Amino acid sequence: MLKISEVFWSAQGEGLHSGTSSIFIRLAGCSLRCPYCDSRRAWKTGRSLETVAILAEVIALKAVRPHVRVVITGGEPLEQNLKELVAALHRLRCRVALETNGLHFQDLHFNWWTVSPKDVSGYSVHPKLWAKADEIKLVVRPSLDLDVVKKMRSCTEAPIFLQPERRDRRRYPRTYAFYKTCCAAGIPDVRLGLQLHTIFRIP
Ligand code: SF4
Repeated sequence: MLKISEVFWSAQGEGLHSGTSSIFIRLAGCSLRCPYCDSRRAWKTGRSLETVAILAEVIALKAVRPHVRVVITGGEPLEQNLKELVAALHRLRCRVALETNGLHFQDLHFNWWTVSPKDVSGYSVHPKLWAKADEIKLVVRPSLDLDVVKKMRSCTEAPIFLQPERRDRRRYPRTYAFYKTCCAAGIPDVRLGLQLHTIFRIP
């Protein structure tokens, strides 16, 4: 049984798979309380569903979009045991991606790992995630400095996306300025990122 906030289709809004048709399974609950969180609804509310019920919703969405990927997101998905759900999705021949804040680890088969460390947790990352991460996403806030990015670069070769904070009026100039600082410091594969779902106002 998992606590699920919502299951829906949309375009992936962030990272290397931006614009990709995707089914999102949003897990409810997250022990962090980021001030810029764009999924606050998932903090508390959710339906308790058996794996078979979650799959039924995925199958209904997949029926007309057979080539979509499935993205397990949150809330923080790794605060619940995903073993049964992930195995069931692979049996459905889904490509399964994970989006996590980096604090927890489960040794499961995901086709794509997005790790998004947060300032409220001191940008902590579970040590076992570094070998798995396919991309790193960072929200550019005043607390994000070069040392944080350099430390991450020393732990992984995955691209590091710098994204604007959604609620900050100065977000684009601040994000671009920090991107330039990272590039000038010679940190490899730092990328300027966007949130397509914010621009297009889609889920
Ligand atoms: S880790 Fe993610 S889901 Fe949790 S509060 Fe922060 S932004 Fe929201």
